[in-house]
Amino acid sequence: MDSDLLFAKMLAEDLDLPFDSTFLEPICAHCERREPENATKEQKLLKCSRCQDTLYCSRECQLADWKRGHKVKCKLIASANKAFNEAVQREEVMPSSPDTVYLDSIPTEEEAMDQLIDAYRLRVEDDYVYNAENRGLYGLQDPYPDFYHFLNLAEKRTGVLPKWWNKTKRKECERRALNEDNWCCIAFAIEKSDIQEHYKDSLMPMKLRMLAQKIYGRGLM
Ligand SMILES: [Zn+2]
Ligand SMILES: [Zn+2]
Repeated sequence: MDSDLLFAKMLAEDLDLPFDSTFLEPICAHCERREPENATKEQKLLKCSRCQDTLYCSRECQLADWKRGHKVKCKLIASANKAFNEAVQREEVMPSSPDTVYLDSIPTEEEAMDQLIDAYRLRVEDDYVYNAENRGLYGLQDPYPDFYHFLNLAEKRTGVLPKWWNKTKRKECERRALNEDNWCCIAFAIEKSDIQEHYKDSLMPMKLRMLAQKIYGRGLM
């Protein structure tokens, strides 16, 4: 599975959306035929008119998929999409506009620093779970150098760090990350459910994963 698909799968999971491979790619949900690039009107895949989401290459495939289970999924997809769009409107979910700096939308500098630290911690956990990658804490090493590298990358990217970020703030952020009295400490491992509980926000893992993806410049794998 490529990283975009995996990311979409995790996103679907965060939103309690039944994952469908057509979530990102224009392929028939039944026979997996891909829509050709620059498709003509006849070659364009058909969209299920109820959920406005699932794609098919033909009526036959649509009918077969309906019987195979889309009948149930269709309603779920439609309501999950509705919930997602409403969350975007309430600005609970980061809009995908490239000029929006997510961390600028966090009310305090401390909270923004903690979310940046947690984006790192969740990513290390994700890399361990999905990629069998053992780095930092998971490699039984001092996690600081790996986190330091993460901050270097964040500083190189445009549109990641908030306006107030500078050398002094970076030092402060590093201190918070190393302080074992702070919940967001890189010396402790976390899982997705810990994040949801701590922030009391079921969408928080998704927000942090998007942030880490921007910083590493790649999804998982
Ligand atoms: Zn088909
Ligand atoms: Zn449908």
